[in-house]
Amino acid sequence: LTSGLEAAWSKLKGEEVLTKENIAEPMRDIRRALLEADVSLPVVRRFVQSVSDQAVGVGVIRGVKPDQQLVKIVNDELVKLMGGEVSELVFAKSGPTVILLAGLQGVGKTTVCAKLANYLKKQGKSCMLVAGDVYRPAAIDQLMILGEQVGVPVYAEGTEVKPSEIAKRGLEEAKKKKIDVVIVDTAGRLQIDKAMMDELKEVKRVLNPTEVLLVVDAMTGQEAAVLVSTFNIEIGITGAILTKLDGDSRGGAALSVKEVSGKPIKLVGRGERMEDLEPFYPDRMAGRILGMGDVLSFVEKAQEVMQQEDAEELQKKIMSAKFDFNDFLKQTRAVARMGSMTRVIGMIPGMGKVTPAQIREAEKSLKIMEAMIEAMTPEEREKPELLAESPTRRKRIAQDSGKTEQQVSQLVAQLFQMRVRMKNLMGVMEGGSIPALSN
Ligand code: GDP
Ligand code: MG
Repeated sequence: LTSGLEAAWSKLKGEEVLTKENIAEPMRDIRRALLEADVSLPVVRRFVQSVSDQAVGVGVIRGVKPDQQLVKIVNDELVKLMGGEVSELVFAKSGPTVILLAGLQGVGKTTVCAKLANYLKKQGKSCMLVAGDVYRPAAIDQLMILGEQVGVPVYAEGTEVKPSEIAKRGLEEAKKKKIDVVIVDTAGRLQIDKAMMDELKEVKRVLNPTEVLLVVDAMTGQEAAVLVSTFNIEIGITGAILTKLDGDSRGGAALSVKEVSGKPIKLVGRGERMEDLEPFYPDRMAGRILGMGDVLSFVEKAQEVMQQEDAEELQKKIMSAKFDFNDFLKQTRAVARMGSMTRVIGMIPGMGKVTPAQIREAEKSLKIMEAMIEAMTPEEREKPELLAESPTRRKRIAQDSGKTEQQVSQLVAQLFQMRVRMKNLMGVMEGGSIPALSN
């Protein structure tokens, strides 16, 4: 997918505005790339149409190239398609919250039962598991073992009893014990069949669950669209859980769920451990579908823009060793802007080098720097030497900005370091000196 989209977007290089003509080819590539990612055809069609409609005629934002703009539109649309925001689990207003899990065989339902209990326990909720898969003794044992592992009681009867009866008595038991959340495991089949649906309907009827979550294997691909819509029509789901996202699936299933059922993905499973369950973040998933290469090239392109805008002016300053606090602020802000763009496009596995925590950290230190620079006089901003020479000035800035003198000194030192680094970078002259701050 990555190389496909990269190719598509490189075609837009040098264009001034998005038109029907110049996006036609990239959109064809995007379409192909999504199909390769196993997104179902009707979903792809609607997606491509929607992106094209939005893209054509979009005015070029200053400093942003058309290809970047198309990336942003595609990204935003992907996020929207997957529900936009994180969808939280719903809890019952009174009595136990009942979560019914459904899905084909082997998708990870039983594992999810225990993971979910573990997840909710950490939020201070008491949980109970109900063994509703009665067809294999091993299924009950598996739930018992997992329940024990996460320290949650399991209600089970045996293989001779109807699942709906087990579910009913399990719920009664939970009410007696004042359990907050009851999670009900069910049997799956390899294919959708009538017996499975009838059984699920019956279990649902007796439980009246708060959540009916369809567990979907991320590797399902194209099939996911049919699967999700069938389960939704037959039993009515409230959302989905996407499992096995740790594998090398291409994410196509994620795109189809909301689109065909109107119901969001609420959680994702990323491994076999009990801790490997987390909320579903549509923006991160969009990042995964777009692929790392594209995110990186987007950031690189943003960097190019920044450099083009300021390069000439900056060069002059550096040549004359005049790089001052005004430039410093401009530079730092440009870097921070890039940080938030990275976030817009969604953090994805593999992009581990820029974590949201690091971005927050960078934004925080930018705020601190801004406060100090704002406390400088225009003369001081243009002539940082004044600050290097005068402790009194540094003290005043510290007081006015509510920072420490040490922080101000650090900032001044940083500016001179930057001057030297830039001179070296530009190859204008060798070395240069960083003045020792006088006390
Ligand atoms: P069920 O038939 O739907 O109940 O599926 P199970 O819960 O028994 O899981 C089937 C297999 O998938 C087991 O070997 C699980 O360990 C594995 N599995 C479940 N969830 C995940 C996941 O998120 N990632 C990976 N890699 N394996 C998983
Ligand atoms: Mg199972």
